[in-house]
Amino acid sequence: MTATIIDGKAFAAGLRQRIATAVTGIGGRGLVPGLAVVLVGSDPASEVYVGSKAKMTVEVGMRSFKHVLPADVPQADLIALVARLNADPEVDGILVQLPLPAGLDPDPVIAAIDPDKDVDGLTNTNAGRLANGRPGLVPCTPLGSMMLIRSVIPDLAGAEAVVVGRSNLVGKPIAQLLLAANATVTLAHSRTRDLAAVCRRADILVAAVGRPQMIGGDYVKPGAVVIDVGINRIPAPERGEGKTRLVGDVAFDEAAAVASAITPAPGGVGPMTIACLLANTLTAAHLRRGLEPPVV
Ligand code: NDP
Repeated sequence: MTATIIDGKAFAAGLRQRIATAVTGIGGRGLVPGLAVVLVGSDPASEVYVGSKAKMTVEVGMRSFKHVLPADVPQADLIALVARLNADPEVDGILVQLPLPAGLDPDPVIAAIDPDKDVDGLTNTNAGRLANGRPGLVPCTPLGSMMLIRSVIPDLAGAEAVVVGRSNLVGKPIAQLLLAANATVTLAHSRTRDLAAVCRRADILVAAVGRPQMIGGDYVKPGAVVIDVGINRIPAPERGEGKTRLVGDVAFDEAAAVASAITPAPGGVGPMTIACLLANTLTAAHLRRGLEPPVV
């Protein structure tokens, strides 16, 4: 079997296009959604992410607000900035770029974000809403993963889903979304016994482990849909001395020989994350005003 490649880059481009159309639509009613991104310190990878987020926010017609604070900013000043953004009517979404520099505790910073502006879906309130099946803001990578799954399996009722990884950011919310879609969900982790056998039960296998190419072909049931959330940088001596490349948590070639559909990494789930951040900002802009969010 040769798997269909689920093209996350193309899907994300289409999603951003639909978001732009929706933004134009509400623009006629005088509403321009705004996303504020807070960057603390000067981590190069975080600067790149924040730059792409700002660029794509403007491209879909939203307002982008960027706040850069020094790495040694006092925790209280960071929380005070979040409080100002909570109170700012032009700001519909607030994202504090993680990880924060050493010495800053992310938990009280996240807790300070108004849950209705929490477009990363990281507050306890939004995690609780997701767990209880209430409307709220869902973390972006899980939301994007779910859209890709639905693009190949529109009806998940009764499907066996195995999620490897149980982080609050990725594994747990993906499991909640699959459960809400009526899949039968197993959440596997580092203490799971005979992980390969557990994974082979899956019609939908989601890898969110952070271990390069750990999920081999022997973890995949023939015909399964494989979603690789992992982004890992590994040495690539074939590209020259000291060079590196990005790979997922799935051994792509092996898994693609067994699966019916698979996301590449990079180019699968990754591009969906920023597109879903914009989708969440659009949702937040509507919910905060008591409006029904558009389906994008
Ligand atoms: P975490 O490190 O927070 O969680 C990893 C999870 O994998 C943990 O639950 C851990 O289990 C489990 N795990 C680790 N080793 C094994 C093992 N040998 N067997 C089974 N389970 C194992 O990572 P994240 O959830 O934040 O991220 C996961 C991956 O997704 C990473 O590669 C990350 O880079 C990527 N990512 C991609 C994003 C995107 O935009 N595409 C966004 C965010 C993350 P335990 O709980 O028992 O320790």
